[in-house]
Amino acid sequence: MNVDWLIVGAGFTGATLSERLASQCNAKVLLVDKRDHIGGNSYDCYNEDGILIHKYGSHTFHTNSQMVWNYLSQFTEWRTYFHQVLTVVDGKKIPVPFNLNSLYALFPPRYAEKLEELLIQHFGFGVKVPILKLRETASGDLSFLAEYVYKKVYYEYTLKHWQLNPQELDRSVTARVPVYISRDNRYFQDTYQGMPKHGYAVLFSRMLRHPNIKLLLNTDYRELLGSIRFKRMIYTGPIDEFFQYKHGTLPYRSLRFDFETINQEYYQEVGTINYPHEYDFTRILEQKHLTGQKASHTTISHVFPQSYDPKVNDPYYPIPREDNRKIYSLYLQEADQIKDKVLFAGRLADYKYYNMDQAVARALTLFKEIASKNI
Ligand code: FAD
Ligand code: UDP
Repeated sequence: MNVDWLIVGAGFTGATLSERLASQCNAKVLLVDKRDHIGGNSYDCYNEDGILIHKYGSHTFHTNSQMVWNYLSQFTEWRTYFHQVLTVVDGKKIPVPFNLNSLYALFPPRYAEKLEELLIQHFGFGVKVPILKLRETASGDLSFLAEYVYKKVYYEYTLKHWQLNPQELDRSVTARVPVYISRDNRYFQDTYQGMPKHGYAVLFSRMLRHPNIKLLLNTDYRELLGSIRFKRMIYTGPIDEFFQYKHGTLPYRSLRFDFETINQEYYQEVGTINYPHEYDFTRILEQKHLTGQKASHTTISHVFPQSYDPKVNDPYYPIPREDNRKIYSLYLQEADQIKDKVLFAGRLADYKYYNMDQAVARALTLFKEIASKNI
């Protein structure tokens, strides 16, 4: 077989690049994934009980990029959905990001009022304050609040999820979910938020239906080398694996999802409930809240953090830390030397904690560079 591009990985990065190269450059693309489905970690499917589930954990779409939103809107309509998350603190379910409603849910009203006034005086209403910044800048009663929220909302959750405490990770990790001085209980405030109306798998199949795209599932790209001819390759898998770990392994975190179908319409109040302190799992997910599916029964999953072992599970999370960035930069130098033949992009190949919209934006930017022959 002769193709212009061999693209490895059918997640958002590989699918976006396949679609753009096929439809805009009339290029012949062979898209390969070792899994038995398209969609990468964003994949969804109906389980044997007829419930639409997210196989690799709940995926809610949110972006401030009109470019990304407009691009994906060619392939899906959207169901309006604003994600909400509760976390269990001292036996109470309170909103996260921790906000003024969380404050009143936990503390006696007069003390909550005092803390609210202090927060607004120091930071202003509507402001998002990363927990590590709150801890550094707070004094007096605010310092008590900062320590309380750090311990009860962040510290134990982070230890469970990453096996590291928040200070052992880049500050950007806990800053993803800042303390929010507001009454807004939504997890995200992005301009564009929603769920693909018919699910992610349908969105992906529409992206990939161009006749120039050939799709090969259940295939590791390494099995094809030697038997197909291609001009260039785009690789979206783990970059250390590509280079046979010659500069050492890049660490990732993985997860195990234990699914269970329950004979009641809904199991919990919202799509995600976090358990920072109790149990060994971090979250219980119920995707019916996201998908809007109507059914008399429901499926939930308990999320158990795992260390990553290439023989056992999948790499889900790059671990953002300086020492890992150093290893990654060695692989980046290797990648630079073969860039006329192979390009690297995506959450695993860039070793970056991308959300879906960032993966799409990265792919669209790379496509522009390819199309303008800058790369
Ligand atoms: P991936 O989706 O990981 O796709 C890479 C693909 O490459 C995989 O399918 C893999 O099988 C394939 N591959 C790897 N090596 C090979 C090989 N050797 N041969 C063939 N194929 C190979 N983002 C959000 O915006 N909102 C969310 O709510 C959200 N929730 C998330 C929850 C979890 C648990 C996780 C792990 C991620 C979440 N994300 C979320 C992030 C989102 O999953 C990623 O941004 C997105 O999947 C990145 O797409 P990608 O194509 O770069 O990588
Ligand atoms: N986090 C936390 N408690 C929470 C929510 C988040 O400690 O209730 C921290 C934790 O370190 C987590 C990070 O913030 O890994 C990012 O959270 P996010 O919800 O973005 O994680 P993801 O959905 O990507 O797993």
